[in-house]
Amino acid sequence: MPQTVKSILDAKGRNVVSVGRDQSLSAIAAILNEKHIGAVVVTNPEGRIAGIFTERDLVRAIAQNGAVVLEQPVSSSMTTDVTRCREDNTNDELMEMMTAGRFRHVPVESDGKLAGIISIGDVVKSRISEIEHEAEQIKAYIAG
Ligand code: AMP
Repeated sequence: MPQTVKSILDAKGRNVVSVGRDQSLSAIAAILNEKHIGAVVVTNPEGRIAGIFTERDLVRAIAQNGAVVLEQPVSSSMTTDVTRCREDNTNDELMEMMTAGRFRHVPVESDGKLAGIISIGDVVKSRISEIEHEAEQIKAYIAG
């Protein structure tokens, strides 16, 4: 059975750290540090995905504009063309999305709303457990 976004979320939970578009970059830097995460999803008041902002965007914004950018709203530095996935996507499809788009986070959308997030770490973890499961089956087959 291929692992899906649903099975990954069932195991790790559906909580996503999200912020509004007016949140400052300094406030987001504090959130990323405190929660030990690499990205926040920017949502509008209805819970729809408006953008994504990751540690890489923070580095880019500071390198391009200096530390004054830290008081700017996230809307000025976020990525608005967000690649999303659904619960029925497989971990292989997620790996393809991340490789093609060169990013490490994919928000999950359900009924037009933010419903989870998958990081590259989640995909690697689920792929390893899939491979281990396959190896166990092969060993059992050979032994039996
Ligand atoms: P990351 O590797 O996730 O830190 O992201 C690298 C760059 O891709 C940053 O500019 C992000 O804003 C952007 N990014 C991250 N995730 C996505 C996504 N799912 N769709 C589009 N862009 C993204």
